[in-house]
Amino acid sequence: MKKIFFSLLVLLSFVISCGKENPIVSGVYEGVGNGRNGEIKVQVHLQDSVITGIDIVETSETEIYAEAVYTDMRYTMITENNINIDVMSGASLSSQGFLEAVEQALTSAGVDLKGKKIQAGEMVLEETEQNYDIVVVGAGGAGFSAAIEAKNNGANVVILEKMSYIGGNTAISGGPFNAPDTWVQQKVGIKDSVDLFYEDTMKGGDYENDPILVKYMAENAKEVGRWLAEYIGVIFYEDKLQHFGGHSVPRGLYPKTHGGSEMIVKQKAKAEELGIQIKTLTSVTDLIVENDRVVGVMATNVQGQTITFNATKGVILATGGFGANIEMRKQYNSAYGEKYLYTGTPGTTGDGITMTKEVEADTTGMKYIQTYPVTNPKTGALSLLGNTRFNGGILINQEGNRFVEELDRRDVVSKAILAQNGEYAYLMWNKVIGDINNVQTAHDREFQTLLEQGLIVKADTIEDAAKFFEIPVNNLLATIDKVNQYAQSGKDLDFNHRGGLVDMAKGPYYIQKAVPSVHHTMGGLKIDKDAHVMDTNGNIIPGLYAAGEVTGGIHGSNRLGGNAITDIVVFGRTAGRNAAKGL
Ligand code: ADP
Repeated sequence: MKKIFFSLLVLLSFVISCGKENPIVSGVYEGVGNGRNGEIKVQVHLQDSVITGIDIVETSETEIYAEAVYTDMRYTMITENNINIDVMSGASLSSQGFLEAVEQALTSAGVDLKGKKIQAGEMVLEETEQNYDIVVVGAGGAGFSAAIEAKNNGANVVILEKMSYIGGNTAISGGPFNAPDTWVQQKVGIKDSVDLFYEDTMKGGDYENDPILVKYMAENAKEVGRWLAEYIGVIFYEDKLQHFGGHSVPRGLYPKTHGGSEMIVKQKAKAEELGIQIKTLTSVTDLIVENDRVVGVMATNVQGQTITFNATKGVILATGGFGANIEMRKQYNSAYGEKYLYTGTPGTTGDGITMTKEVEADTTGMKYIQTYPVTNPKTGALSLLGNTRFNGGILINQEGNRFVEELDRRDVVSKAILAQNGEYAYLMWNKVIGDINNVQTAHDREFQTLLEQGLIVKADTIEDAAKFFEIPVNNLLATIDKVNQYAQSGKDLDFNHRGGLVDMAKGPYYIQKAVPSVHHTMGGLKIDKDAHVMDTNGNIIPGLYAAGEVTGGIHGSNRLGGNAITDIVVFGRTAGRNAAKGL
């Protein structure tokens, strides 16, 4: 039997509603169908119940008939996420067999993707050689910041993104942007300074951080915050700040939509207004190097083409971290293998690290991998509803006892959770706490999902809430009693809660089950403060810049909450500006 390998894994998750309720399924599923000449075997790649790729593993169909089936029909299934497609005239048996194979694979995954009947569209091919001044790889916050700044400095820019959607981990983050001495801090009367922000960040990273990069970030944060608010149009609360663990004072500018998608949506609109090209479903595989200078990239697109993107002024890597790549996690730190789920998007597989090996790019801090303490035990999704923790929500174990200061660093809280029976914890709050900063209302969708998953309970009394998760009622009552005393005295005698505990005498009560999941990879490419990528001899690699989670050194051993957005926008803009100016 002749074998064809469609090696391209088409990464796509453009959700087209088929009007059906599907479970959330990810993985590779195999199916077989009967074509004209025999069996057709396929592997369907699913990410969150969306087809991200279809590989033809075995086929004996006559090539001339099957070609359109394996290009146009396959392409349409992926881009539409719908397999209810008319068979193709002139190749009805081959298309029937292919359809059967894909359907069998989806059935074995328990997913139904038969939407409204459609016809296979024609696969449009691209120019295989394209010319730009600057190629930005990755459409997250760092990539957009770089591209916008580069364009505003006169460069012709393209952003290449391997997923079907933009935003990366930035879009699913909580979104706060740390900066000292901002207009909001001034308004609410909080004293802060560049030095204090620098010191908190260094301390939070156990002084493993690169002090030059941290200083640069701290010094530029305020101005970049203004740029986001005034030029990009991010709407921040004017009178509220997020206070993350490890920061001496609240300094997180807080998007009103309570999420990083606010910045991404606004950055995308700005990029489009400026005429920046954004190409999704385009996965960069290699750098092009000529005379020791990076002069472009090679990429594959959803059509299966290999495209050369020339970049006369430079390539900016903004590919994010490697949290989605379990093998790479294990390679750099064996503690973070399969045991951990991941809060991020599937596109963050460390490609920026892999593709710079040939230019001998240096890396730093690769073993530092951060877990986020409060995530969904079934999916690993970061809990934004769990932000109630920042406003007085308490962490308790199976026995109903507190065991850690809730506002301690993420690594400390995560470790403490894993040391409890069952390696999980419960986050508990009452309505008073849930209403602070509208956290409860803003994340009602997550609340509903957790309810369906049996991972949260809302009850009028502490007794009923405890019973749902079989937490010993008397222990929990005693814990809440103490919390109330500490709230009143302003002194948490057990864990010295830095934000001050909140009275929980009144219900209703919420208890949410939570585990730590891998969240951020602190290590990455070594850069200087101008965002040049450095090689292992300490020299700048000409033509190559990097920004965002793909880089290392800024957060040391542990990133503080809210510092990622500051990092990616500060260094993203710097990379874009310097690449455009040839600096
Ligand atoms: P950052 O916070 O540093 O901006 P994000 O995770 O928000 O990082 O964004 C990184 C983006 O880069 C993601 O959207 C991811 O899919 C994309 N990406 C990763 N590897 C590649 C690649 N090889 N080609 C194109 N895009 C990539």
